[in-house]
Amino acid sequence: MSNKLNAFEIAQRQLDKAAAILNLDPAVHALLREPLRELHVSIPVKMDDGSVKVFQGFRVQYNDARGPAKGGIRFHPEETVDTVKALAAWMTWKTAVVDIPLGGGKGGIICNPKEMSLGEQERLCRAYIDRVGRFIAPEIDVPAPDVYTNGQHMSWMMDEYSKLAGHYSPGIITGKPIALGGSAGRGDATARGGVYVTRQAAKYLKKDLKGASVAIQGFGNAGSFAATLFESILGCKVVAASDTKGGVYNPDGMDAKALSEYKLSNKTVVGFPGAKAITNEELLELDVDILVPAALEGVLTKDNADKVKASIVCELANGPTTPEADEILHKNGVFVLPDFLANAGGVTVSYFEWVQNNYGYYWEEDEVHEKLDTKISKAFWDVVAMREKYNVDNRTAAYLVSVNRVGEAMKWRGWV
Ligand code: NAD
Repeated sequence: MSNKLNAFEIAQRQLDKAAAILNLDPAVHALLREPLRELHVSIPVKMDDGSVKVFQGFRVQYNDARGPAKGGIRFHPEETVDTVKALAAWMTWKTAVVDIPLGGGKGGIICNPKEMSLGEQERLCRAYIDRVGRFIAPEIDVPAPDVYTNGQHMSWMMDEYSKLAGHYSPGIITGKPIALGGSAGRGDATARGGVYVTRQAAKYLKKDLKGASVAIQGFGNAGSFAATLFESILGCKVVAASDTKGGVYNPDGMDAKALSEYKLSNKTVVGFPGAKAITNEELLELDVDILVPAALEGVLTKDNADKVKASIVCELANGPTTPEADEILHKNGVFVLPDFLANAGGVTVSYFEWVQNNYGYYWEEDEVHEKLDTKISKAFWDVVAMREKYNVDNRTAAYLVSVNRVGEAMKWRGWV
């Protein structure tokens, strides 16, 4: 992650703040500050040139008081166990804030899939499941895709797990293709959830978002769908987008579909016709209505938060805002839709996928959209109720909702 901030320390500080406001039972607080279980694995993989490379991988089950752990598997050359722990903690809050009966987990492998052949990636996926297979199950811990992993990786992992289990087990992993028990509507669910939450925020703020300008940092899975959906559902115009190679800006707006197609064929948004080049840093400070960080964590910091001109920040990425930046944004009246609420659409539809797998009956896409809207919109208003009750910012309010729910489950179970 950027500028050497430890994501897990950030997650703990965010919890500490909520615990102080709630006057949380010290035992509940202590249990929520650390993961329940953390597995480190060494994964030998035969590479195409005949050599064997040993990769390091992790699976963290942060808390499963409300149901099986749930969370993605990231492939990243700079992955660390602290990032995985932070993401697992945020998954715990995320499943709780949208009130689905799952806990929080996360996995990661230190690798660069961009430098690996498909065969090497397949062997890595299978070997990872061979290592963590006894640690996960549909009733225990259910992984999903995340940064640099996709439906193909999930398919190989599901197949490997099914071999270990001795039967077809689609409920072991979500984010699968439809042909293997994936859910309709999963592809754009993270972005769609963010757009539905932004729609509720506009109602709360009494803002008309038709024609509102949107800047998206990170034009990957979440970011590119966000562009299309902000345009088609809310009538916004996408004026800026970026990826690792840089960004593009056109104050008159860019056609979201054309931009997505351009990104697909050129592997970057850079050079999109009619737009001028900007840096990722400049994108964050643009004079827009809605800023959507959809890349990696730690991009809004104390050094640039004061320069954010957007009135709504919809955090599709996990952990894009540092605690210092959070305070500055709140003080400046920026309405932040915190990551574990704004990007909870993905896990909500993952939950729907798991439910459909478990009872072997599948829903139409419209039904998935409607159920997602109901869940995530209710979550927004639950957060607003806490915001008003305790006079706190949205992230703190979301923590209050989630920590209360997880704490209550742990108490009923007799853990504390
Ligand atoms: P992705 O790999 O599809 O896309 C990431 C994008 O960010 C890529 O376009 C990449 O070029 C860009 N990027 C990476 N580093 C960057 C940087 N420093 N500056 C600008 N752009 C950069 O990943 P994704 O699935 O879209 O996930 C993006 C974020 O959303 C992550 O934080 C992830 O944890 C979070 N998220 C994703 C989902 C999901 O369902 N995909 C769900 C919840 C949260």
